[in-house]
Amino acid sequence: MNQEELWQAVLAQIQLQISSANFATWFKNTQIVSQRDGLVFVSVPNSFAKEWLEQKYNKTIFKVLHNLDKQIKGVRYETGKTGLKTLKKITFFPKTEQLDFQEFEVERETNLNPRYTFDNFVVGPFNELAHAAGWAITQNPGKVYNPLFVYGGVGLGKTHLLQAIGNKIIKNFHQKKVKYIPTEKFVSEVISAIRNRQIEKLKLEYQKNDVLIIDDVQFLAGKEKTQEEFFYTFNSLYEKNKQIVLSSDHSPKAIPALTERLRSRFEGGMMADISLPDLETRIAILKSKCQERKTELPEDILNYIASIIKRNIRELEGALNILIAYQKLNSSQPDLKTTKSLLKNLISSQNKIVNAKRIIHTVANFYDLREKDLISVSRKREIVLPRQIAMYLLRKELKASFPFIGRKLGGKDHTTAIHACEKINKEIEKDESLNQEIGLIRQRILYG
Ligand code: ADP
Ligand code: MG
Repeated sequence: MNQEELWQAVLAQIQLQISSANFATWFKNTQIVSQRDGLVFVSVPNSFAKEWLEQKYNKTIFKVLHNLDKQIKGVRYETGKTGLKTLKKITFFPKTEQLDFQEFEVERETNLNPRYTFDNFVVGPFNELAHAAGWAITQNPGKVYNPLFVYGGVGLGKTHLLQAIGNKIIKNFHQKKVKYIPTEKFVSEVISAIRNRQIEKLKLEYQKNDVLIIDDVQFLAGKEKTQEEFFYTFNSLYEKNKQIVLSSDHSPKAIPALTERLRSRFEGGMMADISLPDLETRIAILKSKCQERKTELPEDILNYIASIIKRNIRELEGALNILIAYQKLNSSQPDLKTTKSLLKNLISSQNKIVNAKRIIHTVANFYDLREKDLISVSRKREIVLPRQIAMYLLRKELKASFPFIGRKLGGKDHTTAIHACEKINKEIEKDESLNQEIGLIRQRILYG
């Protein structure tokens, strides 16, 4: 057996033992690079995978290897050159013990939906930081990253991750009181408590939690009274080393109308962004979803879906649902042509019409400005930067000429537009958070 065959044999066995999500995540791009003195050297794509394999899967890997070859005494992992095709050669076996999603219900006590787990959460470069931080919390709530603030665009797994954290903590620590709540619900609880003069009671209720998970805190924007109550609850939990986990579609800096003290609280712990999944990860997600649904679709179909839907995992699932429905109704697999026509509507809605008006509107909205402000002559920094970003995006997305850009932003000179584009270009090189912020705006412009 050569090295490649040996590793394929290992992968084939491991695949049966762990969830497809984990398999795709941690074993992608791995291979045996050498064998020496009874040691097998496995190359992995990054230090993340290295740590993970060493800590979580080493025993299993070693056991399988040792069973195949008794000479093998140990395994070492190293980051470096990897075999890109390793994963693709393996077919995914459906697991039968998994439940249909319909069978899950939200838990009354915690508000958590048990369908969201780490096992069915696919990890790729786009979310590995958030995933790792979330996982760390489940091992040691309140002690490592507090608060954890997860942010990223729509449909990219924030809710899934937050709920997975809650579900896992309950599993690990039966006695801990965990509560998940969407911000809108929190807001309405606060409002009705104020109305019924029960705000003290509500505060006490919240202070009983060991882990408080609040989803979509961007909805706190502009709600001063609720922010005040939230600040109070946050502090009292935080002081007692209780874990707080938050999500938002923006970084704290980019949430408009958030009080400064709350913003600095949010930024005080760990901030982890979820960006966009790459093609391989999108395919892995589709495969994982197929498994959950106990169904299989041909590779070319999955590749096709993953190649056209890039920005939203929920839409990826939506496309899959359409195809599965077709499969059930017709008792046959859709071919590529059928797939294309089935997904036509989805694809056209993927690409919103992008024009200058849309870009300016979206930028203004993002920064909670009026379009009038953006095209004004104001030199205030809160306005100048968004204006420059709008100029930059006009250039980038529309390849607009500098005079056109200047005109669209209130009749400014073309040199102003040139300066803006150069400046933003330079800034995003140095400033990762600005880069991400612009990424979010782009996402809204293109797919909002
Ligand atoms: P968000 O809260 O960021 O809008 P969700 O968490 O609601 O996104 O995710 C949308 C859908 O995509 C959910 O059904 C979720 O299970 C799925 N999803 C998101 N990220 C992943 C992932 N990494 N692996 C598997 N499924 C995912
Ligand atoms: Mg969500």
